Amino acid sequence: MKLIDEEGRRLDGRRFDELRKIKIEAGVLHRAEGSCYLEWGGNKVVAAVYGPREAVPRHTQDPVKAVVNARYNMAAFSVDDRKKPGPDRRSREISKVTSEALERVIITDLFPRASIDVNIEILDAEAGTRCAGLTAAAVALADAGIPMRDIPVACAAGKIGAEVVDGEVKGGYVVLDLGKDEDNYGNADLPIAIAPRTDEILLLQMDGHLTYEEFEQALDLAMKGCHIVSKLQREALLNKYRPDLEENL
Ligand code: UDP
Repeated sequence: MKLIDEEGRRLDGRRFDELRKIKIEAGVLHRAEGSCYLEWGGNKVVAAVYGPREAVPRHTQDPVKAVVNARYNMAAFSVDDRKKPGPDRRSREISKVTSEALERVIITDLFPRASIDVNIEILDAEAGTRCAGLTAAAVALADAGIPMRDIPVACAAGKIGAEVVDGEVKGGYVVLDLGKDEDNYGNADLPIAIAPRTDEILLLQMDGHLTYEEFEQALDLAMKGCHIVSKLQREALLNKYRPDLEENL
């Protein structure tokens, strides 16, 4: 499948450094302490935060800090072929790396023996759901008032359009934020999460093959994407809280 033309236009008309359309809303659920609804291209995600609350069962408690439990789940109707409900290898992996990324910015030692539970529900999936999920979770955590060093954010870059000639990989373009066909038929995907104030990397995964130079380009591009998405996260939080802030001035 031809994913990019000679002029550098991608299947959906984007340039190499363009994100899909993103919409973020903070505080959409009434029963959760904090929540977020996020659309990122064709992805639709809800994140809900509960806690800090006493971790149960008690053996899961850490006497010096809170435990962060992120749970990533794809709804059965979120993909083309109905997904069997319940956790699988992939969702366990994404839950684990998301928990670890969030744990690095949450000030967990304020809440010994507690758990902070972050539910990420993918309602519609179109590639890049781990980045969309983590980005939504970060807004939900801020909405819940959980103390954090920074508001984490995630974005991916990747490589598309390479050809195999006589067993050698030729050409290809490093691009921002792979869409579904780009993810399926592309050459590599590099999702990252960062703390945008310091650019500390909280998560980095890679699927496929990149040369060292391509890796550096993709990392740089994904970082730039993260900073754009970070602004949208802050705007979403301000949209919810600005009226209160203005009242208190
Ligand atoms: N996908 C799917 N069924 C699955 C898992 C994934 O159709 O059981 C699709 C879905 O659109 C997802 C994409 O494949 O967004 C890419 O999945 P990947 O594991 O690369 O994670 P993601 O890019 O969503 O973080």
